[in-house]
Amino acid sequence: MSKIRVLSDQLANQIAAGEVVERPASVAKELVENSIDAGARRITVEVEAGGRKLLRVMDDGEGMTRDDAVLAFERHATSKIKSATDLDAISTLGFRGEALASIASVARVELVTKTEDVPAATRVLVEGGRMRDVKDAAHPKGTTITVRDLFFNVPARRKFLRSEATESFHLTNLVTHYALAHPEIAFTLLNNGREVLRAAPAADLRERAYQIFGGEFLENLLEVGGGHSQVARVRGYVSAPRERRTSRDAQYLFINGRYVRDRLLGRALSDGYRSILPNGVYPAALLFLEIPLAEVDVNVHPAKTEVRFRRAAAVADAVREAVRDALASAGYTRPIEAVYETIGTTPLVEDDGSQQVATADETETTRPAESSISDITREIVPPTRQGSIEFGFAQPADDEPFPEALKQPLTSKGNTARDLDAILRHTQSESPEAATDVERTGTVVPFRQSGVENSVPVVNEAQQTPQATHSKSALPPLASASNLVREVPLEAISANIRPLGQLEESYIIATDDEGLLLIDQHVAHERILFDKYRRLESSRSAESQNLLMPETFDLTPAQAATFDSVAEELETYGFGLMRLSGRTVAIRAVPADLPAGEARNMLAEVLETVDSEKRGAARATLRDEIAARLACRAAIKINTPLALEKMRWLIDRLLLTSSPTTCPHGRPVILRLTTRDIEKGFHRS
Ligand code: ADP
Ligand code: MG
Repeated sequence: MSKIRVLSDQLANQIAAGEVVERPASVAKELVENSIDAGARRITVEVEAGGRKLLRVMDDGEGMTRDDAVLAFERHATSKIKSATDLDAISTLGFRGEALASIASVARVELVTKTEDVPAATRVLVEGGRMRDVKDAAHPKGTTITVRDLFFNVPARRKFLRSEATESFHLTNLVTHYALAHPEIAFTLLNNGREVLRAAPAADLRERAYQIFGGEFLENLLEVGGGHSQVARVRGYVSAPRERRTSRDAQYLFINGRYVRDRLLGRALSDGYRSILPNGVYPAALLFLEIPLAEVDVNVHPAKTEVRFRRAAAVADAVREAVRDALASAGYTRPIEAVYETIGTTPLVEDDGSQQVATADETETTRPAESSISDITREIVPPTRQGSIEFGFAQPADDEPFPEALKQPLTSKGNTARDLDAILRHTQSESPEAATDVERTGTVVPFRQSGVENSVPVVNEAQQTPQATHSKSALPPLASASNLVREVPLEAISANIRPLGQLEESYIIATDDEGLLLIDQHVAHERILFDKYRRLESSRSAESQNLLMPETFDLTPAQAATFDSVAEELETYGFGLMRLSGRTVAIRAVPADLPAGEARNMLAEVLETVDSEKRGAARATLRDEIAARLACRAAIKINTPLALEKMRWLIDRLLLTSSPTTCPHGRPVILRLTTRDIEKGFHRS
């Protein structure tokens, strides 16, 4: 007997549903896309119990005839393409003809629809893939699809659904995306009968963004317009550098009106902000790409959230340049960089006229073979990155616990070791982590040493092309610093730490009985403040400073829902918050150490933390997270000169904390190079 058999349609649909229907928000996505494809001017989404119990999408689009309404549930039934050639130029959001069949195979679906020219609407009932009933009904022109009891017949999938809050967050996020992509369509979202979002038809993106995010968000936005029509036209808005996010949640990216999750775009966007935003900090963005249909393949994934570009590097360039231009015209970038950026070259040292500039091709970063010393040490921005290296904080897949962004404070953890490299003239190991880190920072630390005329900049290998590596081989091989510089275990900490000075105005160089120490001044202070905040919080004695002028803050629809619970926690730390009308909040007081200018960023971060928790991210308690964020915001920044007394104060206080060797996010605070290793390095042992 043959072992192979053809699966029933119903089973095939359920399998397809595994890919198309991940969670309630994916059902909403398919239904909303169908409504948009049907030319709707008004779309209403209603959910109950995070969409598990009920999810309804109503539109006033073209509707379906009775025959079509029945056919629509067949697998591969679509009105949007006819032949394979149509696949090369898909202008509708849907085209696979799978969504309704898949959804109906794992839920109880009611479809009521009516076209313009028929007297009666049609009602179709499908349950678990079985057509139950087809009959007349009353309904204006358009379509209403109600999906009840999602996964009622697939308990295994049902178990994978997250909390109601998580699923509601995804739903809100989804509807927000489509509302931004289609300002001309009126959108309403009701969650358990409560109106979460309502947007009347708007004239343009700006007006729609105003409806959704409020005026203040908009004030911080810079208009983007660039690219070229053959590759990608880029338009929309990005935030001014003062607007800072710790996740990519405030990045709304679209390709031809389609909401996508694309690493390439996220990376290109971050590239635009190179040297302007610190690591682990993300801009907000509403970016719309218009790409010729033949240049982009949307048929990559059943949920159609991923796309493939024919010329990915060119698309990334277009995005980066458009963002860069927007920042430049608002005066945020230095012209020298802008110049080098556009000609695709990497300057390594500035102003001395003797620099050699290597030409980079589209996807690789090169470095000059050599260059002379500049007395100014500065961060230089390579224009592009190596294609093969993944961006550290790529947009997470939906369900991944929310990423490093939360664990990643403002400074990059590789810096200390890398800067020590600079001292030792070592090139660093090729650990993927180090590479990623340099990817993020793009920092090249020119080697400085008085009296040396022709020195060589220290460059991480991740940035070197084969040619560059080759040219470097003239250097004598050096031991890797990463083997010598170590984190200091708690028990090996002595009280006898003496500061000597600062490296890069960011790291305290100190000695103790064992050798040389590098203390990250920002994380050290962060640890001190974190302990302090936790103490004050538990004794309920947080100090607070009133702001002369209350700051206002606009919540997104998703944030508005959770604000109250967060506000309470924040108040225990010394915040004074007041909910004004609608989704606007006034910040009247902030914790004593927090610079007033950081108040809004702080609030945004905490709300993001809560958002990402809803997306299923694992994290410590909200209180710890607030204390950690507060500490990070209030702590001495890197690139801040410190007097010796201040360094001494920091070290003394650090030693009194609960964990002097790690910061609240688990990064090392102190690195040590032992005298023994130094001796070994000099062949004295
Ligand atoms: P696809 O969108 O890929 O074509 P779907 O399974 O999502 O496949 O939908 C099947 C078909 O049902 C669509 O091609 C369209 O003709 C019709 N349809 C679905 N939803 C609507 C709607 N809201 N209004 C009008 N027609 C719809
Ligand atoms: Mg569809």
